[in-house]
Amino acid sequence: MIVVLRYGATDEEVQQVCKMLEEAGYKSAVWRGVERTVIGAIGVIDEELKTRLIEQIQSLPFVENAIRILKPYKLVSREWKQETTLISVRDKIIGGEHLIIMAGPCSVESREQILETAKGVAQHGADILRGGAFKPRTSPHTFQGLGYEGLKLLKEASEATGLPIITEVMDTRDVEIVSEYADILQIGTRNMQNFSLLREAGQSGKPVLLKRGMSSTIEEWLQAAEYICIEGNPNVILCERGIRTFETYTRNTLDISAIVAAKQLSHLPVVADPSHGTGRRDMVIPMALAAIAAGADGLILEVHPNPAKALSDGAQSLTIQQFGELMQRLEPIAAAVNRKLYNLPSKFELLTAAERH
Ligand code: PEP
Ligand code: MN
Repeated sequence: MIVVLRYGATDEEVQQVCKMLEEAGYKSAVWRGVERTVIGAIGVIDEELKTRLIEQIQSLPFVENAIRILKPYKLVSREWKQETTLISVRDKIIGGEHLIIMAGPCSVESREQILETAKGVAQHGADILRGGAFKPRTSPHTFQGLGYEGLKLLKEASEATGLPIITEVMDTRDVEIVSEYADILQIGTRNMQNFSLLREAGQSGKPVLLKRGMSSTIEEWLQAAEYICIEGNPNVILCERGIRTFETYTRNTLDISAIVAAKQLSHLPVVADPSHGTGRRDMVIPMALAAIAAGADGLILEVHPNPAKALSDGAQSLTIQQFGELMQRLEPIAAAVNRKLYNLPSKFELLTAAERH
């Protein structure tokens, strides 16, 4: 339920409503905006009691309205909060005017590989370094990631470039250690409905990037995000990464309309992953541009210094040079939808010392 108070409601009046809600068994949260104050209530209470409570609250002179949220997700819904949530990661904001570009290899493979990639993507204007240390591989016979060693290498690459880190956590037992290294926890498509993991990530207090399950509806995805928020962590970034369809030409079908839908239904920032969304390097740039044109707040992209040698997802990884090309092509698309890039280098800055003479 949401209670909207009239302009100028006093602290005592806010407290009175919170008390009524809490006595009925709800948990309440207060947002004081410039224009008005809103109180949100969540909890499971008896239907009759709820109807009576709504009537009582609506009859208070300082209450404008009390509204039920009928959707199965509440905290993440636009009804609950109208303004897009802004998530701070060091000196950057996700969900605001600037797009956030996360780039790096599918997996951290070696010190040289992650350092070279981190420096390359930083030079071309990435905001955040991605890289998997714990990898959810379909076959147990393939490279499973460097684990804790990978986290340490990510930290070194972060220190060398100043880029914050996003990395996947697969197991509730690792949330604490991954949180020590990561600026953003990634929850992968295969774990979107691992409810214990969602709750644990919520309790970590770290920003969480929640990928859409490959066979999940938009409503299921938003309910998964609700599990994180209900633990008191509102810093969730939704990530559309492609879904399973009958099509086999691409690895997944990047559901661009889901970006639009998620932004309509939820106040959480939404980013796109055109790497997993297509599985094909030749489609990553066009789909990245399309996602931004459709309103995504950023991108997460796989980039490898030598994709042919990658231990995972080489076929969908951009080279560092292709990533640079994407960044340059992104700028006019971003401008067309009134967005900016934080770190886009000028073409002059990208010239080598020899080329500048
Ligand atoms: C990844 O980002 O490398 C990854 C495994 O993503 P997804 O969970 O979307 O498959
Ligand atoms: Mn991958």
